Amino acid sequence: MEIRAVRGMHDVFGEEIRLWHFIEEKIKKILGDFGFSEVRTPVLEKIEVFKETVGDETDIVEKQMYAIEKESETLVLRPEGTASFMRAVLEHGLHKQGGTGRYYYYEPMFRHERPQKGRLRQFHQFGAEIINDASPEADAELITVLDQIYRAFHITEYEVRINSVGCQDCRPVYKEALKKFFQPKLSSLCELCQKRFERAPMRILDCKRDSCQAIAKGAPVITDSLDEKCKMHHETLRKRLKETNVAYIDDPHIVRGLDYYSRTAFEFTSNLLGAQSALGGGGRYDLLATRFGEKEVPAVGWGLGMERLVIALETRKDIALPSENPVFYFASLGAKAFDTLFPLSLQLKRDGVRNEMTYDPAKSLKSQLKQADKSGAKYTVVLGEDELNQKQFLLKEMATGKQEALPLADLRKELSRRISAH
Ligand code: AMP
Repeated sequence: MEIRAVRGMHDVFGEEIRLWHFIEEKIKKILGDFGFSEVRTPVLEKIEVFKETVGDETDIVEKQMYAIEKESETLVLRPEGTASFMRAVLEHGLHKQGGTGRYYYYEPMFRHERPQKGRLRQFHQFGAEIINDASPEADAELITVLDQIYRAFHITEYEVRINSVGCQDCRPVYKEALKKFFQPKLSSLCELCQKRFERAPMRILDCKRDSCQAIAKGAPVITDSLDEKCKMHHETLRKRLKETNVAYIDDPHIVRGLDYYSRTAFEFTSNLLGAQSALGGGGRYDLLATRFGEKEVPAVGWGLGMERLVIALETRKDIALPSENPVFYFASLGAKAFDTLFPLSLQLKRDGVRNEMTYDPAKSLKSQLKQADKSGAKYTVVLGEDELNQKQFLLKEMATGKQEALPLADLRKELSRRISAH
């Protein structure tokens, strides 16, 4: 058997997992400060949750879902968070609890894409969602939260791109205008865009191919076709973002890949990432609930790619991750010394004091001291036959090499002193 994880799926450990923990804690804190509470949904959902909502013609639904057939049901590994979230909202009546609801999730997503840097088949997203609120202020708040997250990591090299994709009333007019524009150029578009032309012409604007992008450059912009209400919503959002000092760019080509967006659509892009430049993005999805056969639930949200944030942060040298080095390394020689140090080591761990020691009685003192060095411990405690005979132990401060022989009777007291000074 080849011992290798599935292509496009990664193990995370060592220094990298420390960075992940650091990021996760900071983001959860910010989301908590803004009043968002966590929702965890199962990894598997019925296929309809995405098929009926995200849209049949999206890449996600058409070709990227991992499906499992079981007992005449088709289940899929969650490819995105919003549809699962809305399923949970409707199932538990979270939208009926009254008032604005703020929720977040942090979950792995699965998409069968062609893997490359920043594009994986299992990746992780933080998502934040506001429900029961149709106001542009909710959009402004969410964009501000995402902006705050990147600011908190001192990432400045990103752009906030916003657009409005209109609503059911004004979008058809725009789609017609787009089709009129693309019709004579149809044969120059890529195969996928040719397919998109009839039912989803706005997606052509989203195509990443240079040739399609060049053609789309001259396309009419949706902001010219918005009806009065959509226009007002968008103008208020822009005003609010200015007030909260979120620097944004109006980008009429931000349409987002998914069917369920209306009005606000936005993306955070960064050139720190290479080809996959999207750090995060989202939009308003008031009509998503209707795809489940329910009444409209005003809602807006975003998804942030963890792996992309990790890439952005790995380029930075100034991040000081909290130390996980042990305070003590216990080196023992002989059964009696081991019997003294082992229970002490475990008790200190119970008390939340990091320490290490070897349980291998054959390990020489020399190799234990080597291990102590490698562990990054602040102090090494040495207890051998000689020390026991003299009712002493050695305490070595690793940074200075300073070594003291102290009374064995004071072992706990001396360690406590070092712990409180730590
Ligand atoms: P989306 O759900 O496609 O709007 O994606 C939201 C965010 O998730 C993107 O801005 C990326 O940061 C991240 N993302 C999307 N797809 C992938 C992927 N295949 N691998 C890694 N990150 C991804």
